[in-house]
Amino acid sequence: MVAGINELVDLRQAVVQRLSMPVINRKAITADVLRIDKIHATVSGNKWFKLKYALQEALQSGKKNIITFGGAYSNHLAATAYCCARLGLHCIGVVRGERPAALSETLAECDTLGMQLHFISREMYRQKESLYDELLRQFSNAYLIPEGGAGSLGVKGAADIMQLATGDYSDLCCAVGTGTMMAGLIKAAQKGQFVTGISALNVTPGENTIEHCLDAPKGLWRISYDYHFGGYARKTTELLSFMNAFYTQTGIPTDFVYTGKLLYGILDMVEKDQFLPGSRLLIIHSGGLQGNRSLPKNTLVF
Ligand SMILES: *Cc1c(COP(=O)(O)O)cnc(C)c1O
Repeated sequence: MVAGINELVDLRQAVVQRLSMPVINRKAITADVLRIDKIHATVSGNKWFKLKYALQEALQSGKKNIITFGGAYSNHLAATAYCCARLGLHCIGVVRGERPAALSETLAECDTLGMQLHFISREMYRQKESLYDELLRQFSNAYLIPEGGAGSLGVKGAADIMQLATGDYSDLCCAVGTGTMMAGLIKAAQKGQFVTGISALNVTPGENTIEHCLDAPKGLWRISYDYHFGGYARKTTELLSFMNAFYTQTGIPTDFVYTGKLLYGILDMVEKDQFLPGSRLLIIHSGGLQGNRSLPKNTLVF
């Protein structure tokens, strides 16, 4: 039987976990982690939220094919492949770069789930918006979802994340890729709540596309560019050691592309007094754990 969108994940698993760490206690703040990584192993965290309204629109308009975009380790492609398989939709993943001799674990899983992989050169990928019309002609009766589930329906879905956390928080904290999730959190924030984003990408502040999608008044949010560890999907020994230590102390696994950098960054900002004493933080664990499969075995203790 074909499932409905809300049956694909288990939202009751999205627990809130209080962090008890020396630095947080010393600075007299509290920090909770919202574990949306736990709603599903493949459709990890924010990707389901960013996809759900687009998939709903596709189903309601009777589309049979979903076209979307991503790289070889994309959490978004993995989530889309899984959702489409369960919803009875065919999907086409347009992948950045030539087809490799061996597929990454992520792409192999997408392939197994029935996603049709369509490799294009990095140059073409950079101008993928110019391919939209051609793709929609090539695959008839198709619905196109931008890379990462970006766009207004992605923002709308991300805003729903806040339905899972009812506590009285002064600050919401999240990782930033395209900024879609952060835009949703800003939209859902209550009066007086401040949103801090940690960029996983090495982009020049003010010159990136992220901040353009945050059409919210300045003063309610900030993005730190100090914790990208070299750029998108880059990592250092320091980051990986932090992820292991954080897991040992808290039992919370993180991914090296987004949430490891997020936790490292937020704890460092706490240490550097970038949150006021008495602040009550909610940190969004947006998932992405499937991407850790690209690390050499035994890199991580979890
Ligand atoms: C995609 C992703 C993000 C970034 O979300 P954006 O809406 O693109 O900013 C953050 N965390 C995880 C785990 C992700 O997979």
